[in-house]
Amino acid sequence: MSRVVIVGGGAAGLELASILGRSVNCQDEVILVDGETHHYWKPRFHEIAAGTFDNDLDTLCYFSHGAKNGYMHYQGWMTDIKREEKQLVVSKPNGETDFVNYDYLVIAIGAISNDFATPGALEHCLFLDSPEQARSSWLQISSLLRSGHQRAINIVGAGATGLELAAELAKVNAGLEPNPHAAKLKINLIEATDRVLPNSPLKMSHQAQLMLEKYNINVMLNTRIASVEQQGMTTSDGLTISADIQFWAAGIKAPNWLKNIGGLESNSFNQLMVQQTLASTLDPNIFALGDCAAIPQGEGVMVPPKAQAANRAAVHLAKSLTGLMRGKQLTPFIYKDGGMVVAIGHNFAISTMMNDKLILKGRVIRRLYDTIFRLHQKTVSGVLTMSRLIIAKRLKCIFQPN
Ligand SMILES: Cc1cc2nc3c(=O)[nH]c(=O)nc-3n(C[C@H](O)[C@H](O)[C@H](O)COP(=O)(O)OP(=O)(O)OC[C@H]3O[C@@H](n4cnc5c(N)ncnc54)[C@H](O)[C@@H]3O)c2cc1C
Repeated sequence: MSRVVIVGGGAAGLELASILGRSVNCQDEVILVDGETHHYWKPRFHEIAAGTFDNDLDTLCYFSHGAKNGYMHYQGWMTDIKREEKQLVVSKPNGETDFVNYDYLVIAIGAISNDFATPGALEHCLFLDSPEQARSSWLQISSLLRSGHQRAINIVGAGATGLELAAELAKVNAGLEPNPHAAKLKINLIEATDRVLPNSPLKMSHQAQLMLEKYNINVMLNTRIASVEQQGMTTSDGLTISADIQFWAAGIKAPNWLKNIGGLESNSFNQLMVQQTLASTLDPNIFALGDCAAIPQGEGVMVPPKAQAANRAAVHLAKSLTGLMRGKQLTPFIYKDGGMVVAIGHNFAISTMMNDKLILKGRVIRRLYDTIFRLHQKTVSGVLTMSRLIIAKRLKCIFQPN
């Protein structure tokens, strides 16, 4: 009998727990450790922050899902690993410390925003790293919208996260225009490099920029933030950008406590170093995947921190780890990038395909963006449940007012 303990029920961990739970022998155990009670699809956190997220249809309860899919949910936060004893140290919701034994440990705790030690960022910015942070952002935005007058929101980082958040807020703002008491939002999207979506092809950045301007979003390129104050930010050129609410969405890193945890190797972003098999470089019984792992693909190329990469690594590890438990060798994870889709509001998205050779945009591509979430739902809950959720959502959109 083997016990697989997976830490983190996000894009990677939940898929792995679901596939493994359904496929391992009944004497084997799959345990999913996550401090949350419900799973949220992280690429939709900006919708929670903007108040447009559907809590009923788009979340999943780990406890009941685990019962149907062959894994057990253990509610708690991982704090340490005792490698000698093969034990995970967990902080339970009541504050007590517990120890969970494992034969194989998989770490998939995701990443948090990287504030690059910018003075004041931690104190005065909102982050979209957890459902709780996203919900508390919505509370602040909601009260700002109700406060009337001209208001401003600063968003640092024009990567996918910052851009999707800016567009979602602009949409909410436009929807409230007929209400004379609602605040009018000025949204400043601040980027240190010379274009939005700096890691995407130039043409994609250009198309995204045009769309953002159409949404009246004030895009500030070549603008590096030196410090953040309570009511604004100061750039490296000494310019002050005032705002009522400020978000930080520039770059990611694994949390500081993960660095060298249990004596494992990690990189400068605190990500755990793994081999191409996803086994950690120093311990063959510990694996890592998703945003918290540095996964090599040969010649200095690493797997990017994307939902799609997290999903694919999970599907791969589920098969490879099942094989290992049946006496086979682990197999290397070879990542083939399927392109990138960035949503700008509810009716428009831009995507790259065919190794960035093809750039597509428009309403149909926006449906493709939703497909990535639906494929995740299919992997974790099956095609029937996914179809039922799509139908329920469509009906809700028709019969329920916005
Ligand atoms: C607003 C936003 C928009 C995004 N848009 C896109 C996009 O368009 N396309 C794209 O590819 N990617 C996008 N991303 C990035 C994408 O969400 C991540 O790459 C992906 O979710 C990483 O998956 P993961 O499984 O590694 O981590 P996550 O999905 O973040 O899951 C981590 C899980 O670990 C749990 N956890 C954390 N710490 C602990 C602990 N100590 N103990 C136990 N459990 C723990 C968390 O509760 C969570 O359930 C976006 C991210 C954000 C925030």
